[in-house]
Amino acid sequence: MATVPLASAVLRRLEGKVALITGGASGIGEATARLFHQNGAKVVIADIQDDKGHSVCQELHKSSASYVHCDVTKEKDIETAVNTAVSTYGKLDIMLNNAGISGANKTNILENTLSEFQQVINVNLVGIFLGTKHAARVMIPARRGSIINTASISGNIGGATNHAYTSSKHAVVGLTRNTAVELGPFGIRVNCVSPYIVLTPMAKKYLEVDDDGILGVYSNLKGTNLMPNDVAEANLYLGSDESKYVSGHNLVVDGGFTVVNNGFC
Ligand code: NAD
Repeated sequence: MATVPLASAVLRRLEGKVALITGGASGIGEATARLFHQNGAKVVIADIQDDKGHSVCQELHKSSASYVHCDVTKEKDIETAVNTAVSTYGKLDIMLNNAGISGANKTNILENTLSEFQQVINVNLVGIFLGTKHAARVMIPARRGSIINTASISGNIGGATNHAYTSSKHAVVGLTRNTAVELGPFGIRVNCVSPYIVLTPMAKKYLEVDDDGILGVYSNLKGTNLMPNDVAEANLYLGSDESKYVSGHNLVVDGGFTVVNNGFC
């Protein structure tokens, strides 16, 4: 029996694919852009941090990584980002709707202002609606595609704080399931990934801790910490053809946290 060259197969799991990653200038999005590129994908990073986004693309390769300014709450920006992927690389195979914000960590719903609540919903939910809509616009005629939405364990369990964030992430799981049903007949898979606390700039700002603070307190069940690349690996699976029969799924990446906890306290 012929042996499969495993190492090269594993390293080039996205050969020939084109991926658009919102929030790709930092954290989980940046780690995913790097991993997708390493696996053979052409990558478009869409973000509002222009300097960081350009610099990540420069570190990759200019013929296979591009940056586009995109505020995911603005439909015109999302439309332009999708069109940039298609005009630069000829198509769009993977849409990673990842841009997100944590919002203020308010403990009391009476303190949560309407504008703070709406801002989180706009970026975390409306941004994913717009990203899905415009990815579908080009994926439906192509009859293929993988849309991946970054949710959170806050989309699966409740908590005593940060109501806007939890609401937005629960809604992302619902939007993922609905669009998977609608887009499945067109060969488009839609899934979401729900990470536990990951050591990124967003988590540090929200929790008001440094790297050591997160490393000391927020380890998962295995006593290790979730790093951006661990989530990028889940995105890689959902973006690759290895997950060709997986759609409408919520892939929880939390080391078992939500199995033993029914909420934050
Ligand atoms: P991060 O702050 O490192 O990265 C988020 C990126 O999104 C940044 O580059 C930022 O500029 C970009 N962004 C923010 N608002 C935007 C907008 N309006 N338009 C375009 N880009 C915008 O944070 P991260 O931890 O990597 O977060 C990525 C995703 O992962 C978010 O959806 C977040 O909710 C989710 N998440 C994070 C954690 C965690 O603990 N870090 C846990 C679960 C889920």
